[in-house]
Amino acid sequence: MDHFRYHDNQLFCEDIPVAELAEKFGTPLYVYSATTILDQLKALQTAFAEVEPLICYSVKANSNLGILKLLAEHGSAFDVVSGGELHRVVVAGGKANQTVFAGVGKTDQEISEALHAGVLMFNVESEAELDAVARVAAKEGKVAPIALRVNPDVDPKTHRYISTGKKESKFGMDIDRSLKLAERVKSIGSVTMIGMHMHIGSQITTVEPHAGAAAKAVEIIAQLRAMGHPISWYNMGGGFGINYKGHEAKAIAEFASVVVPYVKATGCRLAMEPGRVVVGNAGILVSRVLYTKQSGEKRFLIQDAAMNDLIRPALYESFHRIWPVVVPPGLPAPPDDYEAAIPGTAPWDVVGPICESGDFLAKDRSLPPLDRGDLLAVFSAGAYGMVMASNYNTRPRAAEILVSGREVHVVRRRETYDDLLGPELVALEPAPASH
Ligand SMILES: *Cc1c(COP(=O)(O)O)cnc(C)c1O
Repeated sequence: MDHFRYHDNQLFCEDIPVAELAEKFGTPLYVYSATTILDQLKALQTAFAEVEPLICYSVKANSNLGILKLLAEHGSAFDVVSGGELHRVVVAGGKANQTVFAGVGKTDQEISEALHAGVLMFNVESEAELDAVARVAAKEGKVAPIALRVNPDVDPKTHRYISTGKKESKFGMDIDRSLKLAERVKSIGSVTMIGMHMHIGSQITTVEPHAGAAAKAVEIIAQLRAMGHPISWYNMGGGFGINYKGHEAKAIAEFASVVVPYVKATGCRLAMEPGRVVVGNAGILVSRVLYTKQSGEKRFLIQDAAMNDLIRPALYESFHRIWPVVVPPGLPAPPDDYEAAIPGTAPWDVVGPICESGDFLAKDRSLPPLDRGDLLAVFSAGAYGMVMASNYNTRPRAAEILVSGREVHVVRRRETYDDLLGPELVALEPAPASH
């Protein structure tokens, strides 16, 4: 359940009409609902309450400082995949000792920063990374807490770009290699293995992959303990799917009911790394129609949000619901089901101004009649939206607004041309005298 609702044909974010935000702050504009974010956090806390979960919000889904601060204030822990993300967490008021550090390519410098900050654990993804963590920790006279990232070899049944838990994935290690590496860990004084980590993929909409992974976790954790490792954490990763279209994803409580019995069987504390499920449906991207254009049989709606603002449709062929922010009287309400024919609509390709054929937000999308100046809402854009935004075509990145009830907070101002050019102005400085 999110807090974007139509009242009298007008889209609201909580108590604020979205059209007012677009007038005041311009477009393209990301608008987030704080209540939706907190509802999702609460739903996770409640569903897994029996095993006292440590909910490590996955910062890469949406790393806005305003959102991190909101989550930190409400008891969220964090999952980071870079030194930069760890820095954000600390600046936003999150606790390093409740932060797990994942990622396949940690540099020595990032490992050192994380040791100094005192992260809860490193999710170690390869033999070579273990060596790096051990070496950096030894040099600094520290003992690094680690969890091995194990691939349970289950198929998450999601898009191939966001599937990570199969044997041949670039992430983590298969079970045999993990167990061999665990043997070796015993002889390394500068690391201590306190957990076991899995993350099998993203946008997982069924419970079976999580159940399969958790069943394997029980066995692996028993084997690690038999070797003498003090395993007290089972980190199940993230990946809970959300509804982009209709009701395709299982509810959080259903994931919990299959996973919790296995967690109990491990006797471990549960950590998890949810990203998308916390913020995905808590954000929309608001754009304004610039032009309509017909080309052959195709109708194009050219609006001011582009692939540099939201790359998911171009990158993963993702579906986002799109609907006018203000629906003219007599025209249909936003559909619950896009597969069905919607009266009063016609198919449009919703595209942006960028010079790439891949610059689209939707193809052949049923929409009511629209004209220059009309506003569109692109739904479910809170996760993997703004974090992947770029300045391609020298487009300043969108502003971000966090709404809570009647309160409106600008959590990122719109970029200016100066913001974009600043780091390059060195190029225009007089050339140094040659020797
Ligand atoms: C991306 C990622 C997550 C978050 O995934 P969601 O699908 O957004 O929940 C969690 N853990 C790791 C290691 C990741 O790489």
